[in-house]
Amino acid sequence: MEHADFLIIGGGIAGLSAAVRLARHGRVLVLEGEEAVGYHSSGRSVSFSHYGIGTAPVRALTAYSRATFAPPLGRLFPTLYFADRDSLPRLEALAQEMAGFTDAIRTVDAAEMAALFPPLRTGQDGAVRGLLDPTGLKLDADLILQTLMRELRAAGGAVLTGRRVTSIRPSWTVRTEAGEAYYAPVLVNAAGAWADRIAALAGVAPLGLEPKRRTIIVVDPPAGARIESWPFALSAARDFYLQPEAGRLLVSPVDEVADDPCDAQPDEYDVALAAERLEHYTDIRVTRIAHRWAGLRTFTPDRVPKAGFAPDAPGFFWLAGQGGYGFQTAPAMAEIAEALITGAPWPKALAELGLAVEQVAPGRDRASAGPA
Ligand SMILES: Cc1cc2nc3c(=O)[nH]c(=O)nc-3n(C[C@H](O)[C@H](O)[C@H](O)COP(=O)(O)OP(=O)(O)OC[C@H]3O[C@@H](n4cnc5c(N)ncnc54)[C@H](O)[C@@H]3O)c2cc1C
Repeated sequence: MEHADFLIIGGGIAGLSAAVRLARHGRVLVLEGEEAVGYHSSGRSVSFSHYGIGTAPVRALTAYSRATFAPPLGRLFPTLYFADRDSLPRLEALAQEMAGFTDAIRTVDAAEMAALFPPLRTGQDGAVRGLLDPTGLKLDADLILQTLMRELRAAGGAVLTGRRVTSIRPSWTVRTEAGEAYYAPVLVNAAGAWADRIAALAGVAPLGLEPKRRTIIVVDPPAGARIESWPFALSAARDFYLQPEAGRLLVSPVDEVADDPCDAQPDEYDVALAAERLEHYTDIRVTRIAHRWAGLRTFTPDRVPKAGFAPDAPGFFWLAGQGGYGFQTAPAMAEIAEALITGAPWPKALAELGLAVEQVAPGRDRASAGPA
């Protein structure tokens, strides 16, 4: 049996980020069921950091994490939230929510939106007002994962791929499908959509996690369009976004379809919806879908990611429920995990951003959420 100080189940952005922080305090082993890290949600993200998503605690985690994404891990990328007449109240609410975390955002009118993002339909039947955030960050997901792997190895830790955990005994012996065994006094559950299943293996009460599928299609831009200057454009109605990337357009219908933990695949309906919304909000015609994928965004009942020891199992640490913001919150969540596992004080800057330990404590929202 191989011994470590910390065993982490899950080689996604959550598990790897925590691994690097914990490697300062002892030997870390990350057990990943797939043959490569980032095979599931972390390899399917559009990896952006912005304040237009999530609840106040998520925005606090986002704000705290921003400094980690200096170039080349992240680069400034303007973000445009646009509203038609019907969704103006949602744009106004969004402006107020984001104002607590940044003063960089300003209102833009239809003419300015058309200049920033020429294909957007504006005016009577289209977008009438928008919010422009010049401080959005496009993250390089591959580079971030590779950098974390390198840092972990340099600190003496290891990521073991092809190690699907199938049995867990307190406190804590873990066995894999192939029969390998590992022991550590602290077990970190960073298994993404499978985190409740890992808890079940360990006899720990679930959080009531809800994996939800999201779909992306990739289409060619109109001939001659200078998409390098286009913003990340999101509808205030939360039913569409478009992100220019590497000469093509990533488009999502912002679907949230309940799914089981699985190798998520795009559904034809959501693919068609993405194309239809693109043609609705812009004058771009979809002639070919070059590529498509889907991934799971896994939410806790109150949509705040959780980090903390399970109240019912000493040494079993939850790091789960990263939802649609697992990249942009990962540095903060990893630092929280480090502090809570090693007994260090709650990070002062997080308290200043209004985030308290109770908000990320696992199980706190379970009572109000009803049966899982
Ligand atoms: C389409 C899409 C767009 C997104 N866009 C953004 C964005 O712009 N910004 C942002 O911040 N976030 C975004 N997200 C969300 C982000 O990708 C997730 O929050 C994040 O990747 C979750 O990371 P994770 O490490 O918790 O999960 P995962 O990456 O899924 O990692 C969990 C790992 O646990 C492993 N595992 C499970 N069970 C076992 C087992 N029994 N034994 C061993 N290993 C196991 C799995 O194989 C998996 O690799 C997006 C997600 C999707 C799908």
